[in-house]
Amino acid sequence: GPLSVTEFASKVGKSTADILKFFFNQGLMMNQNMMLSEEQMGELALEFGFDFKKEESLTKENIFEQLQVADKPEDLVDRAPIVTIMGHVDHGKTTLLDSMRNADVAASEAGGITQAIGAYQVVHSSGKKITFIDTPGHEAFTEMRSRGANATDIVILIVAADDGVMPQTEEAIDHAKMAEVPIIVFVNKCDKPGADPEKVKVELMNYGLVAEEYGGDIPFILGSAKEKQGLEELQETILFISEIKDYRANPNKFASGVVLEAHLDKSRGPVASILVQSGTLEMRDMVVAGGAFGAIKNMENENHKKVLKAEPSRPVVIFGLNSVPNAGDKFIVMNDEKMARQIAEAQIDKKRAAEQQSKQAFTLDQIKNHIDQGELKNINVIIKADTQGSVEALKGSLAKIDIAGVKLNVIRGSVGAISNSDITLAMASSAIVYGFNVRPDASVRRKAEEDGVDIRLHNIIYKVIEELEDAAKGMLDPII
Ligand code: GDP
Repeated sequence: GPLSVTEFASKVGKSTADILKFFFNQGLMMNQNMMLSEEQMGELALEFGFDFKKEESLTKENIFEQLQVADKPEDLVDRAPIVTIMGHVDHGKTTLLDSMRNADVAASEAGGITQAIGAYQVVHSSGKKITFIDTPGHEAFTEMRSRGANATDIVILIVAADDGVMPQTEEAIDHAKMAEVPIIVFVNKCDKPGADPEKVKVELMNYGLVAEEYGGDIPFILGSAKEKQGLEELQETILFISEIKDYRANPNKFASGVVLEAHLDKSRGPVASILVQSGTLEMRDMVVAGGAFGAIKNMENENHKKVLKAEPSRPVVIFGLNSVPNAGDKFIVMNDEKMARQIAEAQIDKKRAAEQQSKQAFTLDQIKNHIDQGELKNINVIIKADTQGSVEALKGSLAKIDIAGVKLNVIRGSVGAISNSDITLAMASSAIVYGFNVRPDASVRRKAEEDGVDIRLHNIIYKVIEELEDAAKGMLDPII
């Protein structure tokens, strides 16, 4: 039968506060003794990634019994590692993705007609599979993560050997580190005259990425995406990490996962590329993806081939949703159309509520409230400054600040103007952006406003510190 908030929380191994907070964020005041409706359960399943057992079909009546909270070890089977490639523009990400795909037999058998679905799988000569995600950018990667959709096991950092570490390489490193996933460095364009892979290794040491021969544990692979050199070694390294990390999932339940991209096709209606993360997706399954829902009418792989099933780590294109979901939306299967519709509609309301909230989410003048409520342990800070000297000086000063037991955590400190990427990172990590002798341009300022990110501009270090201390005491003057 139905469960109360407290009973549900203990069943799924969450705290009562987690569940109440979820509803609170939708503007719904619940208490721990209130009974959850089936629809609310479904929403929680989508939010926290619970799945449903597949022994019998899921109905409104049995949703509580069918909830699968934790997989038993014996239910788990190996799944393909999910890999994202990141790096500076023109360092060869697209070429690497293409080369790896074209080297794959299954793909070439398909006649070379491929569709851009945001991800594909290759089969290594050992028979093992690897899933590559083509994230449109670092920001999309982190935005997805900030929404709880962890669609990457391993990051490949691509760095051109003739160019070395560039601004977006730095960004990629920040994003990969935030995601706390293993990093493999692919030093690309080693075929070019003037390529200096050793220099890249030394440069990356400054970012904490230390090659094995220098005593670190980061695999560096020297190669050429264009000449298809180093690809085999890259795949072997991915599979090696995959073996150690032992990525597993339970295929024997209703599928759940994440939307990679989606659009409206003139003749076929809403089309969504999705990644199955657990369970198995099948034709005719009723899917709820963000604010969209519908029964799967057709399913295709990256080679335009019709598929009937999609196991964990498999990217597929699905047809049949009633509207276009957003990239990064989570999906679950919910084989009850009425409930699916209600959950989808609740997602739309929730998104609206969240947008309202984020307008004021990370501002400095809220810090005192957070401290008073004992919620805040770290204040994340991004520093952008005119010189490396200023960056280091600010970092040093901030490290010494202790506001009522709250520590400052510099998640990015670099030279240069405040960029859109800084804002995205700030949003994803609830950080405040400090500009020291640098300013954001109008478009960055606009994005910060939209995302509710606080930008503070200064040119004297002690002003920064004074301001943070004032903020902690709740005595802040607005400056921007
Ligand atoms: P992306 O912006 O990171 O996706 O970079 P692209 O894959 O579009 O590559 C940018 C340019 O570098 C293109 O002209 C590629 O042909 C070239 N390129 C990529 N990889 C290599 C390589 O290994 N060697 C050489 N010589 N050129 C490469």
